[in-house]
Amino acid sequence: MSRSVTVRVPAKVNVQLAVGGPRPDGFHDLANVFLAVGLYDEVTVTPADTLRVTASGPGTDQIPLDATNLAARAAIALAERHGLAPDVHIHIIKDIPVAGGMAGGSADAAAALLACDTLWGTGASQPELLALCAELGSDVPFSLIGGAALGQGRGELLTPVPVGGTFHWVFAVADGGLSTPAVYRECDRLRGAAVIAAPEPAPVLLDALRTGDTTALAAALTNDLQPAALSLRPSLRETLDAGTHAGALAALVSGSGPTCAFLAKDAASAAALTTALLTSGTCRTARAAAAPAQGAVVVPTPAEATS
Ligand code: ATP
Repeated sequence: MSRSVTVRVPAKVNVQLAVGGPRPDGFHDLANVFLAVGLYDEVTVTPADTLRVTASGPGTDQIPLDATNLAARAAIALAERHGLAPDVHIHIIKDIPVAGGMAGGSADAAAALLACDTLWGTGASQPELLALCAELGSDVPFSLIGGAALGQGRGELLTPVPVGGTFHWVFAVADGGLSTPAVYRECDRLRGAAVIAAPEPAPVLLDALRTGDTTALAAALTNDLQPAALSLRPSLRETLDAGTHAGALAALVSGSGPTCAFLAKDAASAAALTTALLTSGTCRTARAAAAPAQGAVVVPTPAEATS
């Protein structure tokens, strides 16, 4: 039998990214409020003679197709834990911008883990899957659960955050990516010898999410990595300004960038903002997406969907 399993997994935007000073292990302590947004990758796993990765979609020439691909690493980690051979063909349909600060690679890792667990019938519990996710990367556990969550430690210690409404976002996707480690290094460089307070979640931001208050959320958005992303890619200032002039309630760099995120009043404003950004000449493309989005989920096969 050679059935396939497909998992759909969302991108994320950080609505708060408070970054502490560098730790001895090189990571930074974070207060990182993740919000899953409705831009998705799809990862399909099919039994094969050997582990193989293929990918389609924009930017896939920039992702490795060997065992270093995060989706392949996830399959290998799950197989090792259960004494199996990771012999699957992993196909990734990418819609999340590559190296865009929207956790695309992490999303693929979470999706591959869930897909392989389903294909192999390994029956991993949610805590087991989350522990494997945390070994694969700081943003991977959140990609599995979706919704909204506060990440502490290096971002992997998750507490779900309630969300009381729908938020309408527009994402301006840049040409080319930014390396997340390089952005953290630039953040440290810009801060120099300044004393950095321990990162704490902002109560006003968590309240805005809980009550579904778009205006309050717009006023509370923060990203400590934004100065570093702008320092490495000064042209992002023009992208942020284009969105602000076109009526966004708030504009910020998404995570480590270079994708820029804009919060809109409602779905109609998001559509208008998308059009304005597309014609602004300040980004490669612009996409509207609603939040919160569900985490990684197995997509029913056509037969399952109709039965
Ligand atoms: P984050 O927001 O978590 O910091 P990002 O969205 O900025 O991440 P990714 O799209 O995850 O960046 O890509 C980061 C790097 O990871 C890429 O440059 C690529 O070399 C590598 N990578 C490995 N596997 C994948 C994958 N499945 N998809 C995308 N990138 C991958």
